[in-house]
Amino acid sequence: LNTAGEFAMVKLNRGETMIILDGRAVAQQRSADLAVRAQAFEKKNARKAHLVVILVGDSGPSQVYVRNKAKACERVGMSAETLRWPAEISAETFVEQVRQVQAKKNVDGILLQLPLPDSLSKIDLGSLLDSAKDADCFTWANVGRQAAGLGHVQACTPQGIMSILSHYKISVEGLNVVVVGRSLIVGRPMSWLLTEAGATVTLCHSRTKNLREFTLRADLVVVAAGKARHWGRADFKKDAVVIDVGIHGAGGEQKICGDVRFEELEGWASAATPVPGGVGPMTIMSLLENTMSLAEARA
Ligand code: NAD
Repeated sequence: LNTAGEFAMVKLNRGETMIILDGRAVAQQRSADLAVRAQAFEKKNARKAHLVVILVGDSGPSQVYVRNKAKACERVGMSAETLRWPAEISAETFVEQVRQVQAKKNVDGILLQLPLPDSLSKIDLGSLLDSAKDADCFTWANVGRQAAGLGHVQACTPQGIMSILSHYKISVEGLNVVVVGRSLIVGRPMSWLLTEAGATVTLCHSRTKNLREFTLRADLVVVAAGKARHWGRADFKKDAVVIDVGIHGAGGEQKICGDVRFEELEGWASAATPVPGGVGPMTIMSLLENTMSLAEARA
């Protein structure tokens, strides 16, 4: 931030101080715009845009994530409700209850907090939700639109990362990018958004042979593998941009960390996201932005 409160154009520095890509600051700036939309929506519709988060079971980290999501909604003038269902819920009851929630007129967005218990693993989540209320791009319809570059909602984490890059004026056009992780909520949609933005993308995963050969060639690496502090300086080329999606230790006693040993990147990477305070806050912001877009579209 410069003294006028504007984000200065960031020139990627070569070999100098690493730029810390501050997801909290980006989220704070975007929340001001969102608050304006939330207020206009409320004025026009005599109600707040409303997000429902469904949490099944009582996993510690998920409790933290859903609490943060609800608080963030309230901060920008939207409303949020967290439904806590027991881990023993049957698949039939779960499906029935989700249908009842999404039939409510005042519900604009629904988020199913993952992971769900194994007993629900047979449910086709991509067909269960209504795509008009699908705040995290779960439904097959929205996944398809997103893959085709046509979506009006995007998977929250990849969308949040694109917002961070755009905020810091890091253009990925023509860059050689590696995404580590191929999950449907992070790795794959990340590769689609980056491809759409003009990057040349290689999608790596647990079966990739000689992963380091790929990451060492990349101008920008997105690490979303879920392996605590597994990657460090020796895995990235000098001046690479490193985006760390991993979160470990949320809701527990230990310090929260990511997939990357962040402290090794100073003086090596040109820019990187910290954990906490990097991708996490922007995932939440994207969830709110998606919910707002869905609310506006239905209204
Ligand atoms: P996932 O377990 O569904 O997928 C992990 C992927 O990483 C898989 O495709 C797997 O092939 C790959 N992988 C695993 N080990 C690997 C290795 N050693 N080398 C290369 N690839 C490997 O996980 P996910 O839901 O995509 O989440 C990934 C991580 O990101 C987790 O730590 C999760 O907690 C975190 N996460 C953070 C946010 C956020 O807002 N910051 C959001 C979602 C997920």
